[in-house]
Amino acid sequence: MTVGVYIHIPFCESHCYYCAFYSAVERADVYDTYLDALLREMEARAEDIAAATVDSIYLGGGTPSLFGPERIGELLAACRRFFTVSADCEVTMEANPASLSVDDYRRYCHGGVNRLSLGVQSFSDRHLQRAGRLHTAHEARQAVQRAYRAGLTNISIDLMYGLPAQSSASFQHSLLTAVHLPVSHISVYGLTVEEGTYFGRLQQQGRLQLPSETEEWRMYQDMCRILPHYGFDRYEIANFARNGKRSRHNQKYWHYMPYLGLGAAATSFLGRQRRTNIADWKQYVAGTARYSSPYETETLTEEQLAEEYVFMHLRTRKGVDTVAFARRFGISFCDFYPPSVAAGLQAEGLLTQIGSTLRLTPRGMALANRVMAKFILT
Ligand code: SF4
Repeated sequence: MTVGVYIHIPFCESHCYYCAFYSAVERADVYDTYLDALLREMEARAEDIAAATVDSIYLGGGTPSLFGPERIGELLAACRRFFTVSADCEVTMEANPASLSVDDYRRYCHGGVNRLSLGVQSFSDRHLQRAGRLHTAHEARQAVQRAYRAGLTNISIDLMYGLPAQSSASFQHSLLTAVHLPVSHISVYGLTVEEGTYFGRLQQQGRLQLPSETEEWRMYQDMCRILPHYGFDRYEIANFARNGKRSRHNQKYWHYMPYLGLGAAATSFLGRQRRTNIADWKQYVAGTARYSSPYETETLTEEQLAEEYVFMHLRTRKGVDTVAFARRFGISFCDFYPPSVAAGLQAEGLLTQIGSTLRLTPRGMALANRVMAKFILT
């Protein structure tokens, strides 16, 4: 059995205006304390995945690159010490386009990183500034080129659409800039305004000016048109890969495979248990110094597992194989869901069936939430 390992490094230089992930702005002198806690948790939980081979490690955040090449190297060396790590393990590190040099990227590679995920979001300085990002478009382009020169040939970037005052023309510029850079993977997210963020507060005060629905729809269509034209294959609702460089780690989530999550706010999914560590790095550190940090667990029922399996698979271009579903859950898809659910969605042109597989159509991908809602039984 293979398993993924997710390690959360929650530190950021500042809070971006849209971000609802757990992150903290702290001085660098707390990083060693947090690293020690991660190592303690890793050792304590190695047993949970002792029978499995780790074939993907994802350093997410936060901004893991703030940890620096030495700490990242130490963390990855510990993974190899405590877990069985495959020789071809995908090791992704998230980073922000900042002032990292070619040599810095080389040192991350030397420590074991072989895939980079850069939070670019836009190639327009105006929109970057309005989203509270600290880097410029020039720095983002430079970061990709430097990382590539350092030998990181598997680079992913994140882009956003629906940002305040963003137009289809500006988003097209970001897409076209991205495809002409040496990146192999692009994740594209529509802005969701979340409570507790700066954008959320602006919206409550009626001061957040977002693009109209028509303009946002144009941006969505730009994404669907431009990325495949430049060789990016849409293998998940929001993810596009060139030259087959799909994210092995993220596919674990969508294909409903097991993963171990380490660090504050990290989630694990092993067997039928989902466990989430406390989203407070100080309490997390204090907990690992005793027996264990506070965490919450949820044991999923067979019905919940089956529903989530369907949602996650439907996000991918591969879709849900109803034969594999029946094998895993011991019940046929037609007995689990009334046949009218899939038939109704097919009649609306949102779902298609090829052999035993159900997949979202391009229109279904655009209206994915509506489709998923139909597959909720509970
Ligand atoms: S978007 Fe990334 S860099 Fe910005 S606050 Fe969130 S985790 Fe930190």
